[in-house]
Amino acid sequence: MSGEMLTCREIHRLIVERLDRTLSTEEESYVAQHIATCAGCLVFCEQMAAIRKACEALKEGRVHWDDTK
Ligand SMILES: [Zn+2]
Repeated sequence: MSGEMLTCREIHRLIVERLDRTLSTEEESYVAQHIATCAGCLVFCEQMAAIRKACEALKEGRVHWDDTK
C-alpha cells in the first residue's frame, strides 16, 4: 500500500478547490481514496457536488429565485 493519505482538513480544501479548478490526477486520487474510507468527507463531498450543481443551474438560468411575480 502506498501510504500517502491526506488529513480531513486537506481533503476538505481540495474538495472546495475543485469548485474553482480542475484537480490534478494525483489530487483526485487522494480525494477518492480518502472518501472511500471517511464518511464525514464523503458527506462533505456530496454537499459540495450539490452546491456546484445548483451554481451551474443558476449560471444557465435554469433556476429562478422569484418566479411568482
Ligand atoms: Zn476525512
